[in-house]
Amino acid sequence: MRIEEELKLDFQDVLIRPKRSTLTSRSEVDISREFVFRHSERKYRGVPVIAANMDTVGTFEMAQALNRYQLATALHKHYGEAELASFFLKLPEASAVFYSMGITTEDYEKFCRVKKQVGDAIAYVCVDVANGYTKSFVDFLHKLRDAHPQITIMAGNVVTGEMAEELVLDGADIVKVGIGPGSVCTTRKMTGIGYPQLSAIIECADAAHGLGGLICADGGCTSPGDLAKAFGGGADFIMLGGMLAGHDECMGEVVEQDGARKLRFYGMSSRTAMDKHAGGVANYRASEGKEVLLDHRGPVENTVQEILGGVRSACTYVGAHKLRELSKRTTFIRVARQLNEVFGQS
Ligand code: 5GP
Repeated sequence: MRIEEELKLDFQDVLIRPKRSTLTSRSEVDISREFVFRHSERKYRGVPVIAANMDTVGTFEMAQALNRYQLATALHKHYGEAELASFFLKLPEASAVFYSMGITTEDYEKFCRVKKQVGDAIAYVCVDVANGYTKSFVDFLHKLRDAHPQITIMAGNVVTGEMAEELVLDGADIVKVGIGPGSVCTTRKMTGIGYPQLSAIIECADAAHGLGGLICADGGCTSPGDLAKAFGGGADFIMLGGMLAGHDECMGEVVEQDGARKLRFYGMSSRTAMDKHAGGVANYRASEGKEVLLDHRGPVENTVQEILGGVRSACTYVGAHKLRELSKRTTFIRVARQLNEVFGQS
């Protein structure tokens, strides 16, 4: 047993210090980014926010809505082959929509069949496992990269610099970062495993950037300010579940409660998801996600405007004309957290 004494931070542990700026309005801020991916060598330009590949959020409807704002979507992996093929074939060329999969043989074979039908219309793939530290995950990444050199691969999740480096070297263009911070995730509670998300972002970004890779901060953002902190910490992309949940474009049962319309939102490892997609929770495992009821929030467009407005405003506070400059202009100030905040957290 060993104890690491170095302090690790979450979004709530810091604020961003304002800096002198020549910007007069948020409208002067450009929050899109351009990248050339390390392995696929493809170009990307867009607002680097990605809807999570959860079956309630990563829907075709969400992808179409977010596309209008140049945001990306990782589709959930439970769509059928025919509907996926038809969706990708109609996708406008510049859109960033990720085909998501796990690492089973069935996942891979399904992907190969869909890819065969649509060809280059699938340009982005998200390989998603709860624990990105396993040999089988790394082996899968090699296999996928060897077979599809021109696809942009996002893979994870991990939380430490050495594993982010490993995944970049194994073929990931974007390393997905986050174990335990998700709004409907109970991994920290169920297993004791995790890593404070802001520190994970800072450390993984530093490691991946050193090798020409990128990172996607996945989970834990609950307000536009959290996105500003994640970008400030070095995230190239940010993945959102809860912040994009509860909208018209989401899939999920609408429930009436006390006269209000609510939408079910649940973790992909929750009992609800496993009952739905895997015929129940297997007897060797426990659920690591929960279900919540969210207020129905109407079209996602309003929320997108609010999120992007917050990030733009953060850029003006620190004098960043472009989102690209935000990290360089970020100084985090550590703030004392209230005890009830610490103990109230799941
Ligand atoms: P949020 O933006 O809601 O805080 O986090 C979204 C992320 O939570 C997802 O992209 C995914 O990485 C993670 N997640 C989704 N469902 C589950 C789950 O059931 N268990 C765990 N451990 N993580 C989940």
